[in-house]
Amino acid sequence: MPFASTTIRTRRRAEVRRRDGDAPCALQITADCQAVNGQIEYNARPPDPRSFEVDHIVSSDEAMRAGWTEAEADALENTQGVCRQCNRAKSSGNRPVAAVRPTYINPRFT
Ligand SMILES: [Zn+2]
Repeated sequence: MPFASTTIRTRRRAEVRRRDGDAPCALQITADCQAVNGQIEYNARPPDPRSFEVDHIVSSDEAMRAGWTEAEADALENTQGVCRQCNRAKSSGNRPVAAVRPTYINPRFT
């Protein structure tokens, strides 16, 4: 399930950028991404495979099964900056998902 609206999504993108700066892709699960050490092209736009996207660390489906509220699932703490191609690879379920960086675990569930 995506963010509730384009407005929220746009704001969340800005929030993740502010938090993480020009951080590399948090997933780095595609060979192309790994080849450039996860560098994200922050000025690129979809469908550029290295453009910036916001990924839910715990997916909305998983969060729902775990009893999270929608607000918790969409919280900034449950998001990470990734490149488009890794986000799509993760969504496809065909590749293992990289370990979650500890600082992004929702404190409620630690
Ligand atoms: Zn990536």
